[in-house]
Amino acid sequence: MTMPGQTISGWGGYPRLVDATVFSPLSQSGCRDILSQAACVIPRGMGRSYGDSATADRVLQTTCLDHFVEFDPQTGLLTAEAGMTLREILKLIVPHGWFLPVTPGTSLVTVGGAIASDVHGKNHHVSGTFSQHVVSMTMMLGSGEVVTTSSTQLPDLFHATCGGMGLTGLILSATLRLIPVTSAMITQTTIKAGSLEEVCESFEAHAQSTYSVAWIDCLATGRRMGRSVLMLGEHFDGGGLEQPARDPVRVPFHTPACLLNRMTMRAFNAAYFAKASDNTTNVELLSYFYPLDALDGWNKLYGKAGFMQYQFVLPKTDGVKNMRTILTLIAQSGLGSFLSVLKAFGLANQNLLSFPIAGYTLTLDFKMSASAIELLQRLDDVVAGMGGRIYLTKDALMRESTFKATYPNWVQFEELRHKYGAVGRFCSKQSKRLGLA
Ligand SMILES: Cc1cc2nc3c(=O)[nH]c(=O)nc-3n(C[C@H](O)[C@H](O)[C@H](O)COP(=O)(O)OP(=O)(O)OC[C@H]3O[C@@H](n4cnc5c(N)ncnc54)[C@H](O)[C@@H]3O)c2cc1C
Repeated sequence: MTMPGQTISGWGGYPRLVDATVFSPLSQSGCRDILSQAACVIPRGMGRSYGDSATADRVLQTTCLDHFVEFDPQTGLLTAEAGMTLREILKLIVPHGWFLPVTPGTSLVTVGGAIASDVHGKNHHVSGTFSQHVVSMTMMLGSGEVVTTSSTQLPDLFHATCGGMGLTGLILSATLRLIPVTSAMITQTTIKAGSLEEVCESFEAHAQSTYSVAWIDCLATGRRMGRSVLMLGEHFDGGGLEQPARDPVRVPFHTPACLLNRMTMRAFNAAYFAKASDNTTNVELLSYFYPLDALDGWNKLYGKAGFMQYQFVLPKTDGVKNMRTILTLIAQSGLGSFLSVLKAFGLANQNLLSFPIAGYTLTLDFKMSASAIELLQRLDDVVAGMGGRIYLTKDALMRESTFKATYPNWVQFEELRHKYGAVGRFCSKQSKRLGLA
């Protein structure tokens, strides 16, 4: 199916592109036909990337390529087409006692999108990224040729494609190695921390925890700056494997953006922090990993102009001090981030454009405005100066010079794209902004 004249954007609703042509092929030969046309295209899964990485004048939507190919409940090896969502995979595997080795904070992403962004979860410090658990994958190159790639078969293509933002070729299917679980519950331990220093110490003290993530109050200043609620998680050993099916609550329309202002955010943060208490409890796996999936279309809460999600990572050395500097700049800007999340990262992997490096990563949501753009462009320079980088799957603004300085493997990445015939075949609004061929 071909749909011309479409308006598309990432999950943040900014930037918005009008008049895109969206192709939704049903088969590999349909994909080949689209690639044979003399204009570049960008693969797109569920469009859960926030900025413009899955946005282009010509978009190849993969969500019709969504079949299971093979699942072995004995070994936990699963092969699925790239348009299959993690939600559908979970429905199949959890009742058999298997779970995803790495999962982002929403189940509404495709396998292809998870690989192309090399997504991480709450367990990066122990399990690395999603693509580190990909045994192999099939891809369609710009020429239409289908190849199989893995860390041992065409490894240069594999490491360029994992985290390669759809710019090396179209991922068709992937084989994942799952992890065994004995229940659909997570034992969650909540620890309150009164400051940034305290929460970072807590991350270090609990480095052996399988999962860890902290909600952080970005509006608190002074002594309380960075006060947080750290949530640790372990798979519960026992209990059933049934996952309760619940319909998400739907946000029907864009709410007035003024509802989210500094005052309401400050009130929310104060209430959230006050309500939290140190405790350990068992929670459903889906609500632990995907709390936002319970609110369908939550991005509309930011109003019609949309929002930008900004995620950066700072190296561990001086990471806490540098994070405090950035929180101070945000507080001084007078802009608030409604939802702010802090995680600790383990070591970087070999993928050329993969985001994580050992250190701390902070994720912030800013309502779209001219002053937010100004702040984020300023923060880009500060983060780069501290040896950090911005996550490409969230980015809508980064300048070419910042990208090239903070992702030094871009040169090798471009060589690989030339070698495998991706140049002129795969491009996005983001790749053009970042100065990729
Ligand atoms: C609520 C929420 C929570 C999130 N939490 C996390 C998190 O904890 N950790 C994290 O790392 N990310 C997180 N994300 C980001 C999300 O996981 C990534 O943006 C993911 O790539 C989105 O997958 P998608 O299928 O929607 O891909 P899209 O947004 O459609 O595309 C993303 C990129 O993948 C490429 N791509 C998609 N399909 C293919 C394919 N078949 N072949 C080649 N390239 C392809 C696109 O070209 C694009 O560059 C979150 C997003 C949301 C909305």
